Amino acid sequence: MTPITAAELAQIVDGELISGDPGVQIRGLSIDSRAISEGDVFVAFDGAKLDGHQFVIPSLSKGASAALVTHDLSEVQADISNAGHSALSLSESATTAGTANPSMNGKAVIRVQNSLDAVQRLAMYERSRFSGPVIGVTGSNGKTTTKDMLKTVFSTGGPCLATAGNLNTELGLPLTLLRRQGTETSIVLEMGMRGLGQITELCRIGQPTAGIITNIGQSHLELLGSQERIAQAKGELLEALPSDGVAALTAGDPWLERIYTRCKGRVLWYGLSEQADAFAGDLEPTSTGTRFRATVLGKSTVVELPTPGRHNVVNALGALLLGAVHDLSLDAMADALRNLPASVGRLRIFQGRDGRSVIDDCYNASPLSMKASLGVLMEMEQREQAKDATSVAILGDMFELGDYEEAGHREVGRFCAEIGVTRLITVGERAKWIAKEAVAAGHPQVRHFATKQELLSELEGEGVVPTEATVLVKASRGMALEDIVAAL
Ligand code: ATP
Ligand code: MG
Repeated sequence: MTPITAAELAQIVDGELISGDPGVQIRGLSIDSRAISEGDVFVAFDGAKLDGHQFVIPSLSKGASAALVTHDLSEVQADISNAGHSALSLSESATTAGTANPSMNGKAVIRVQNSLDAVQRLAMYERSRFSGPVIGVTGSNGKTTTKDMLKTVFSTGGPCLATAGNLNTELGLPLTLLRRQGTETSIVLEMGMRGLGQITELCRIGQPTAGIITNIGQSHLELLGSQERIAQAKGELLEALPSDGVAALTAGDPWLERIYTRCKGRVLWYGLSEQADAFAGDLEPTSTGTRFRATVLGKSTVVELPTPGRHNVVNALGALLLGAVHDLSLDAMADALRNLPASVGRLRIFQGRDGRSVIDDCYNASPLSMKASLGVLMEMEQREQAKDATSVAILGDMFELGDYEEAGHREVGRFCAEIGVTRLITVGERAKWIAKEAVAAGHPQVRHFATKQELLSELEGEGVVPTEATVLVKASRGMALEDIVAAL
């Protein structure tokens, strides 16, 4: 964060300096008193469970220079005043009798109406001081993965500030901007969405100069009502881009092909088809991922992507495309992708009991992401040299699909039959549709369990999941299939 004084901060966030030294320097921001660094401003949030105001004093004692609060804190203000500074009636309070608290010397308290709004305003100020490319990343699936790949490729051109983990909300995005150190040459912001207008709001703060939409799937269908509205909501990123901006979109996504005209700037496409501006050919599995030839805006290079799945090849193409548009060297970007951090791509692959390879992907699920992960399962099975290699998919309920609930589960069932997963195990009331459709499509080995407990009790033996099998476990978060993963 750009260093500013308490007086400047008060002005930026439209707050009032209610106590302390207007000239004290602020060099960072934290909303967590446990993570305070020297010179930070601590922002107190009035949460439902916890009132952040109780951490104002601990934060100031730990080195914070200032606190942003939404209501008066008389004892803190008195402490600061007694230490020698008060924005209000300095002469009076400095002379009032009271115990001077030297640790409060050179601190400031600023009162605002709303803490979130204050953090956002400060983030917008930070954004206004940056003139390099800011990439907004949204889509139904693959945002975090694509964002991490973008960070990797943009880092070849200089320090890149990117969303940490999945902090893609109206709070997470501003906190990301406020981590700016000043040396960055690019910024990558993941943008999450749970309703109309939210991406517009994130773009108001982040002001992206370029954007990427990974796909329009069915996640959050229940909240938005229709896939058309999901497309509309994600498309807000296109509208937010300036006329000299650029959008990179996944080729072949029917919804993106309908909404791309909402972008005033340049629109480029990436995907497996050769018609795209960035496409992949010669795909070959490696021990952990895929080797492929990437052709980006007419130039070609070989990429060794350490993370598996065709969907990750597509994600990487999106990153390479935006990197190339920003004049980064394709070879340098490909080189960087070779060393992509192991965590990128989300699937956790480990050796389970009895020689099983387990793909743990039970952290979220939608029809699109289930198909992507099933693709990884099949790739892994093909890598196994053993003739009797067995692929097992343990799939649970997908939530929040609204009207698409039954059709979405059936779509996955059909896909399982098509790709030839050796064994399909389903668990949960909705997942029954996956099983039914797979059976209808001719899948020979399908078992359904009404509850997780029933499946767990049968997992003890090897009748359900054979030894040496490659197993994918996936469902919506609420199914908590971690227990199944642990049992494998
Ligand atoms: P969230 O909404 O939780 O932030 P996200 O959009 O950030 O999710 P990731 O965390 O990158 O997505 O990946 C989540 C799941 O989506 C993974 O299970 C992965 O298999 C799948 N996935 C990743 N990229 C794609 C893609 N391009 N197309 C389809 N599925 C994908
Ligand atoms: Mg994410």
